Amino acid sequence: MPVTLPQVHCRAKRSIDWLRWLAVGVAAALGVSLVAAPQGAPASADDPLDPCSSQVNYRLPGSNTHRLAATPGTITGLAYSNAESRTVALEVSSSGTWTTVSTAAVAPSPDGSRGWTLVDLAYPPDVAQGSQSMRVTMAPAGVCTQVTSAPFVMAFRKAQYTFNPTMEVTSSGPSMTASTRSNLTLVGSTRAETLGTLQVSDIVVQRSVAGGPWTALPGVGVKAMPTATSSSVFDLRADVPRLSGSTKQKAVSVAYRFASVETPTVATTFSKPLTVGYFNARAVVRAAVVRDCPTTKVYFKKKFPKDRTKAAGYYSWGRNKIVILSPAIDDRMPLEHVQSIAHHECGHRLQETAYKKHSAAVKAAQRVFGTNHSDPLEHWADCIAMVRQPKGYLGYGGKCTAKQLKAAKRTLRGKKL
Ligand SMILES: [Zn+2]
Repeated sequence: MPVTLPQVHCRAKRSIDWLRWLAVGVAAALGVSLVAAPQGAPASADDPLDPCSSQVNYRLPGSNTHRLAATPGTITGLAYSNAESRTVALEVSSSGTWTTVSTAAVAPSPDGSRGWTLVDLAYPPDVAQGSQSMRVTMAPAGVCTQVTSAPFVMAFRKAQYTFNPTMEVTSSGPSMTASTRSNLTLVGSTRAETLGTLQVSDIVVQRSVAGGPWTALPGVGVKAMPTATSSSVFDLRADVPRLSGSTKQKAVSVAYRFASVETPTVATTFSKPLTVGYFNARAVVRAAVVRDCPTTKVYFKKKFPKDRTKAAGYYSWGRNKIVILSPAIDDRMPLEHVQSIAHHECGHRLQETAYKKHSAAVKAAQRVFGTNHSDPLEHWADCIAMVRQPKGYLGYGGKCTAKQLKAAKRTLRGKKL
């Protein structure tokens, strides 16, 4: 019996160790940071000879997001057994009955070296949602009796997706302007957290016109997103059609956002909205032209002659006529840029009224506006536009000096340079 007594003694000690494992397990279940470093029993003279000397330390998955019903998962542990081959098991409780759901073998370390073995104890993919009581056991072997941890509880929740759709708005912020005839493309992304192989639901585009209620844009959205098997980022891209029936409207503010479709497993979430200040580009051009060139006729063309394909508009010298390339001003061009084009072409009209002859205007312009690489008449017209719309752009590049802006103002007053 000299061998038996230490066994009893050791079993008592084992139960104390299990209390320590339990402390680790509870800490994990509560979400407390845990590091289950191997914690052998205090060395004692009889341990190296005790075939039942054994221990398991385990850790639970670190966060709730991993405790997902219908998703495989494991409880990872370290175990050793001194002299006997042992089996470590994870058990779940159902109506008071403990059932083994996974096991791991622990090879003996007969020299008493406590050769720790990594054990992965898988919990089943069909655990019930809610709180699940579990425990870890080490099965009896030879003269060693079963060792059992106190139960611990893990919370499981149903598989679900989380959507966080974002809309990449514009470089200038959450709002932009565009012609009512613009075709816009909304882009963004969303992260879908998945468990198992659920299908990611549709994401639609909603809009709110002039602060009104949000309504889905029929047929616009991100359909049939791929099935995901983990947390993934999906690109969102949706083409927004023109505002139907509103092209005569001078201005209307419309907000767009991405929205995930609500289903039993997907909560509705929205991206931050993009607000588009729609304007009637033709009306904007006419209003800009009429200010300084009230007698000039304005036309819109879908195509330009080949020698003017790079222009957004032109002025017919001697005919008091401005022609605007309509696709250019409808191509998501900001309001200020559309105004710049109109003021620029009107500027040519002002050059004509001041100098009558084209050659005389060019000669005068060379002196003041010859600093740019382009035709000085063009830079002159650009600077006239810059006076009228400082937020606009210079179609021919470069920059307008203070002197040139001053000269442009004189032109706007009907004077020569
Ligand atoms: Zn020009």
